[in-house]
Amino acid sequence: MSQQDKTALRELLQKQREAFTLARPEGLDLRRDRIGRAIALLKENADALCQAMSADFGNRSPHQSMITDIAGTVAFGKYCLKHLEKWARSEKRHVQFPLGLLGAKAELRYEPKGVVGILSPWNFPVNLSFGPLMQVLAAGNRAMIKPSEFTERTSALSAELCAKYFDEREVAFVTGGPEVAQEFSSLPFDHLVFTGSTATGRKVMEAAARNLCPVTLELGGKSPVFLGRGADLERAGERIAMGKMMNAGQICLAPDYMYVPHDQEDAAIAAVELGVHRMYPTLLENDDYASVVTDRHFDRLKAMVEDARDKGAEVIEVNPGKEDFSNTNARKMPLTILRNVTDEMQAMQEEIFGPVLPVRTYREIGEAIDYVNDRDRPLGLYYFGGDPGEREEVLTRTISGGVTVNDVIFHVSMEDLPFGGVGPSGIGAYHGVEGFREFSHARAVYTQPKIDVAKLGGFKPPYGAATEKAVRGLMK
Ligand code: NAD
Repeated sequence: MSQQDKTALRELLQKQREAFTLARPEGLDLRRDRIGRAIALLKENADALCQAMSADFGNRSPHQSMITDIAGTVAFGKYCLKHLEKWARSEKRHVQFPLGLLGAKAELRYEPKGVVGILSPWNFPVNLSFGPLMQVLAAGNRAMIKPSEFTERTSALSAELCAKYFDEREVAFVTGGPEVAQEFSSLPFDHLVFTGSTATGRKVMEAAARNLCPVTLELGGKSPVFLGRGADLERAGERIAMGKMMNAGQICLAPDYMYVPHDQEDAAIAAVELGVHRMYPTLLENDDYASVVTDRHFDRLKAMVEDARDKGAEVIEVNPGKEDFSNTNARKMPLTILRNVTDEMQAMQEEIFGPVLPVRTYREIGEAIDYVNDRDRPLGLYYFGGDPGEREEVLTRTISGGVTVNDVIFHVSMEDLPFGGVGPSGIGAYHGVEGFREFSHARAVYTQPKIDVAKLGGFKPPYGAATEKAVRGLMK
């Protein structure tokens, strides 16, 4: 990245911050107007954005993109519009006795932070750029967005559209490769939202730390599925297959591996296979099924399967149309189930992020709980079952960013629930009122009454009997 480009990036931030400072205080109508423009951008250019995403992936169903990237993000924008006023309301807070009687007031105001940087990944390139943007705008901030270099067409189109709908001092896209991303993460933003891998998240937090810039890190991890007592296997199998096949498993919340009772392994695998057969009778020519995003990502998944095979796993390819995948450059990969996996296998060490599903078995649910607790805290955790006691045992003895019971992934689509990880799967959250607060500064405002409170409380020198009485009172 040239020095000139670096300077331009810093100047853009400076321009946004100056505009932000000059315009304060901005009314809620302006926030609504900005969210409205982001919604209009998505609605009016939905087809072009879906085509760009499909071209970037090689193939990606426009229907799927409409659901996951366009409609889902528009709906989230509308949710922000609906709740904005309530979220932004100041709160009265309690003042200690007897200050209230004397006229003291405590108030909490949710104020914008300033300029927020958004760094987004390729797997849901529109949703994960414009989704955070909706709430960043709801909180009254300006935004600079750096989308992924792997979805080049979508990123270029987003940048072009953004310039049509927004003044660059309100919202601006910055495109480019990892060098640009690195420079971007070193800018002294007022807040930085990063969605991507845990490894890059570490670098982003390091860069942000130099500016003491607060971060929201939306990362990944190995989200386990527990098949518990009384689970309806057919239903669970179909739902797991859907979660693992959508976007070809390239979802941060995709069920990573499945933990099943040892005597139900065959039935659980058969149920997942049945689910795939029902939803995807064929894969290669089937537009509903996405490609793996690049050759490099594809080769990594292939190598992961070979590594498991070499180390003794049984490999089951779920290929409903009995298609030949060997002579195609479509980067499509059938769901590949791995049995008899061990911790030495790459598939049990890294987040899979593709259509590969390792299966582990347990005799007692406690074994599965211990296994999960011995590893990095996952982003999502899924429990299927009909036994509330067992469900609570799994939920109360594990820790994860979020949970979906009797399905996978769905908790992220609940607009009113915060979405985020914990530990290595993330820091902070957005969606719900929590997202608004994440991008706001909760400013404490205390108003002192006319009466000399310090003297009355014995805090004012010269110290003496009143002080001692006050101290005793405080500790009583
Ligand atoms: P990635 O970490 O490779 O890249 C994400 C972004 O970081 C890109 O825009 C990239 O340009 C930028 N980047 C690359 N190197 C950088 C550096 N040194 N400094 C700063 N930025 C840099 O992630 P990816 O491959 O695009 O996405 C897949 C990962 O994202 C998976 O781990 C997945 O679980 C995670 N993810 C998480 C969520 C979530 O909401 N928690 C959502 C989607 C994806």
